[in-house]
Amino acid sequence: MVFENTIDGQQLPAASGAVLDSVDPSTGSVWAQLPRSDAVDVEHAVAAARTAFDEHWRPLPALARAAHLRALADAVTSAADELATLETRDNGRIIAETTTFDLPACAEMLRFFAGAADKIGGDTVEIGPTSFNFTLREPIGVVGLIVPWNAPLSIACAKLGAALAAGNTVVIKPAEQASCSLLRFGALLGEAGLPPGVVNVVAGLGEEAGDALVAHPGVGRISFTGSTDTARIISERAAPTLKPLHFELGGKSPNIVFADADLDAAAVGVSTMSVFTGNAGQTCIAGSRILIQEAVFDEVVERITKLAAGVALGDPLDSATTMGPIVSSEQLDRVRSYLELGPTEGAELVFGGRSGPELFAPNSPLRNGYYVEPTLFRAEHSDLRICQEEIFGPVAVAIPFRDDEDALALANATRYGLAAGVWTRDLGRAHRFVRELRAGAVWVNTYRKVHWAVPFGGMKESGYGRDSGWESVLENTQLKTSWIELGGTS
Ligand code: ADP
Repeated sequence: MVFENTIDGQQLPAASGAVLDSVDPSTGSVWAQLPRSDAVDVEHAVAAARTAFDEHWRPLPALARAAHLRALADAVTSAADELATLETRDNGRIIAETTTFDLPACAEMLRFFAGAADKIGGDTVEIGPTSFNFTLREPIGVVGLIVPWNAPLSIACAKLGAALAAGNTVVIKPAEQASCSLLRFGALLGEAGLPPGVVNVVAGLGEEAGDALVAHPGVGRISFTGSTDTARIISERAAPTLKPLHFELGGKSPNIVFADADLDAAAVGVSTMSVFTGNAGQTCIAGSRILIQEAVFDEVVERITKLAAGVALGDPLDSATTMGPIVSSEQLDRVRSYLELGPTEGAELVFGGRSGPELFAPNSPLRNGYYVEPTLFRAEHSDLRICQEEIFGPVAVAIPFRDDEDALALANATRYGLAAGVWTRDLGRAHRFVRELRAGAVWVNTYRKVHWAVPFGGMKESGYGRDSGWESVLENTQLKTSWIELGGTS
C-alpha cells in the first residue's frame, strides 16, 4: 500500500518523491510506503495551516469549530475498523485494543474537545473604578504535533482536539515506524468537511521532517510525545524561536504492592494491566518497576508468573492474541540489550528472557517478527540500570521493600516522574502516597487508566504540560490582558 501526506486538503507524495518503507513488525516484511518528507513539505504544510488559521478557522464561531470536531468524530467512527486494522498492522498493538479502546477513544476525545470549544474565555480583573481590566484567551496560530509510534491515532486526536478547539490549526508529524493510520486519517479530513489546511499530516524522519517543524518560525507551539533524549534535542532546536513546548516523555514507573492489598487484583494490575500489555509494554506509563512488600513478595511473584504464562504472543490482527510484537528491529535490539544486561548487573531472571525465532514453531511467519516474551527480573537494589532506564518492552523488575518509608524512597528514586501505582486497602496510606509520589498520575488499586477528560503528563524528566482535560485546551491558548482607561479619579 502507498500512503500520502495531507497538505492543504490535498493528498501528496513528498515533494522530493522520496519514500520510506513501513515494516509489519509481526513478520518483519515491508507492507507499505510513506512519504519521506523534508523541510520543503513542512514549509508547504505550515503555510497552508497559517492561511487556514487566518482565513477559515480563527474567524469561525466556537460552535462552528465544535460542529467540525463532531463531524470528524463521526468520520473516525465510520472508518474505525479500517483505521484500527491499519494501526495494528503498522505498530503491532493488538487488534483487541485498537478496536475496543483506541478508536472509540479517538471519537470520544474529539467530542469532548468539541464541547470545550465554546467554554474558553477570560476573566475580568477588578483594579478600581477608573479602568476596565480583562483577559482574553487567544489561539496561538499553527501548532506542530509530533507523535510517537505506540498509539498514533489516539495521541494525535488528544493533541489535535485540544489545539483545534482553542482555535489553532495543526501540522502533525507521525512517527516513521507507524505513520499509516494517521496518513489515512488525513485523507478522511476532507470527507468530514474540515476546511483545507486546518489539519495537515506530514510523514517523514524525525531528524528531517520533525526537525523542520520544530525549527520553523511560523510554528507557534510544539506538542511532543516521545523519548526524553529527543525532547532535549527539540528544546535546543526550538530555542532560537522561543516557542512554547509541551513534552510527554518516558517513564520508569513504580507499581507498589503492599501486603494488605487484594493480591489477585494487584497481580493483574502489576502485570498484564501494566507492563505485559497488548502492545508488549511499549507504553510510557508501563509499571516497569514492581515494588512488592517483603511479606508477600514470593506470593505475588508466583501469581505474576502464572499470569505471564497465560499471555498469548501472536499475530496482532488475531483477536485471540494478547501480546503483539515490538515495533521495529532497532527497538527489539534495544530490549534484547537489557535482557542481556540484567544478569550481568546482578539481577536474577525470574521468568522469560527469550525473543525472536525461539518463540515460534519452525514454519511460523512470526519467527521473523520482533517478539519478546514477558520477562521478570528480581533485583535487591534499585540503582541497577535495568531499574533506572526505560526499556520499552515487556520487561519488568521486581524489588522487595520493607515498609512505607522504604517503598516511597524506592519509588521516587528515578529521574522520571510519569506515573505510579499503589495497591493497598489502607485509605490513609493511599492518600499519603498520592501526595508523596513524584509522578504526574498516581493510580490506587488500578493501573494505566486514562481518559480524555483527565489531564495526563509528567513531572521531572518525564516532561511538562498536559494532554487531555481542560488544561490541555488552556495550554493551546495564549493570554492577553487589556486595560481600558475609563477616566475619573481612583
Ligand atoms: P521513540 O524513542 O519512542 O521512537 P522518539 O522521541 O525518537 O521516540 O520519536 C517520537 C517522535 O519524535 C517521532 O515522530 C519521531 O520521528 C520524532 N523525532 C525524532 N527525532 C526528532 C527530532 N530531532 N526532531 C523532531 N522530531 C523528532
